[in-house]
Amino acid sequence: MKQFAVIGLGRFGTSVATSLYKMGYEVLALDSSEEKIQAIVNDVTHAVVADATDEAALKALGLGNCDVVVVAIGQDMQASILATLVLKASGVKRVVAKAQNDLHGKVLEKVGADQVIYPERDMGVRVANNLVSTNVLDHIELSEEHTIAEVLVPESFFSKTLGQLNLRARYGLNVLAIKRNEQILISPTADDYLLKGDIIIVLGEKDRLARFQHK
Ligand code: ATP
Repeated sequence: MKQFAVIGLGRFGTSVATSLYKMGYEVLALDSSEEKIQAIVNDVTHAVVADATDEAALKALGLGNCDVVVVAIGQDMQASILATLVLKASGVKRVVAKAQNDLHGKVLEKVGADQVIYPERDMGVRVANNLVSTNVLDHIELSEEHTIAEVLVPESFFSKTLGQLNLRARYGLNVLAIKRNEQILISPTADDYLLKGDIIIVLGEKDRLARFQHK
């Protein structure tokens, strides 16, 4: 089984360490703060107070045998860089290091980090993507304002009729057709149900379609 170590138990490091432990992996958590170690002692396999820049201490703890070590020290860039350097020198296969900014990240790469992560930035990108992630599979722009789109039916629409959903009044969208498996139902009526897996072909204003996508 893979062995992990997490160095630096801020919010990020704590989350990584406890999540891996919950998934059933062996996790060694290390921090120079006694308080941080006390707080995590029941949620990881081993928790040790040590200075991550102390090469002898890291060796004595056997960190070189870990498959992956996450360096999650944030503010103290010097410590994070030194720890990364020492870990790679002691033979850790994979060091994942958290960077505060671009320059920090570049230095981490230079000293041997196998992966550099920017948690705040990466999460920001993910949240932004989620916010605009759509059920729209395809679309044809009819004009600056109007579009025809193929939309995967959202869960909240399952087993409801077009009449109940009232998409025309609520979103200004006209349902031109429903695609179900290999069949296509042209000009559906208010009594037609939408089912899981259905794709509706709608005509409407782009802006209103965008709002509909976020439902
Ligand atoms: P987060 O944003 O994840 O909450 P952060 O980026 O603000 O954290 P810090 O709080 O600066 O990160 O550092 C995380 C932890 O790293 C702290 O608990 C700190 O005690 C520990 N730490 C700092 N330097 C060392 C070191 N040389 N050896 C071991 N642990 C260290």
